[in-house]
Amino acid sequence: MQIAVLSGKGGTGKTFVSVNLAVTAKNSTYLDCDVEEPNGHLFLKPEIHETEAVEIAVPEFDPDACDGCRACIRFCRFNALAFIKEKPYLFAELCHSCSGCMLICHNHAIHEVNRRIGMIEKGKSGGISVITGTLDSGEATSVPVIRQLLRDAPTEGTVIIDCPPGSSCTVMESIRNSDFCLLVAEPTLFGIENLKLVVQLVKTFHKKCGIVVNKDTEIVDPIKVLANESNIPVLARIPYDQGLAEINARGGLAVEDKKYEKIFRGLLVKIEKSGGKS
Ligand code: SF4
Ligand code: SF4
Repeated sequence: MQIAVLSGKGGTGKTFVSVNLAVTAKNSTYLDCDVEEPNGHLFLKPEIHETEAVEIAVPEFDPDACDGCRACIRFCRFNALAFIKEKPYLFAELCHSCSGCMLICHNHAIHEVNRRIGMIEKGKSGGISVITGTLDSGEATSVPVIRQLLRDAPTEGTVIIDCPPGSSCTVMESIRNSDFCLLVAEPTLFGIENLKLVVQLVKTFHKKCGIVVNKDTEIVDPIKVLANESNIPVLARIPYDQGLAEINARGGLAVEDKKYEKIFRGLLVKIEKSGGKS
């Protein structure tokens, strides 16, 4: 079962929930799709046994074949091409590797070359397979890294997908094939506004989902209203606890404490009982 863990913004406890859920599930796979800032490995501390580069195909121009018609520049919707000093010029970080410019060139003056944009590391942390994607600094296109990361996701067993924060195309790519979406939110007015965005996203994708309230104070609960209105169950509440913040700060795991192990076990059982998909 693939469980995607997402939140409307960074810092809500998405990775905290993901890694503790992966440990609770024992022989699971943890995929860190938060490729701009992957940090699950800080908690799981895997031993890396394989590294692979992520490359995309980008255009390269043959100046002898190019007649300067500029059709490729007009075609590129990502503004990755410009005409400078009488020849096409590529802003490689903006290229989405669509191959369109190559197909449209009537002089066959464009061919493709591979360009590295990130890497994937595979390792083991006890019984957990830890696969981490990292976008190289200065790169703008995370989706190919996430695609390559998910391509090798096992189809059996429990797979935890630690999604990027927010509700952009990278999150859509991360949840596309998931069986269940777990939405992590803080019980604040800001938290609720961010939660609304991911609720809208998972509804659009017709995903089965549930909410985890993190840093729950039991004083105010704006999430309950949204959960009821959206017909999404609140599956777990993780209390606001300074001890937990300290465990997190030193890269520890909450489930090593029996009190939290019980919360995460209960959460996993509820997700598995839901059966996943929609
Ligand atoms: S479409 Fe081909 S011929 Fe025209 S400017 Fe681009 S590379 Fe040159
Ligand atoms: S491959 Fe696509 S995105 Fe990249 S430069 Fe060509 S048209 Fe633009």
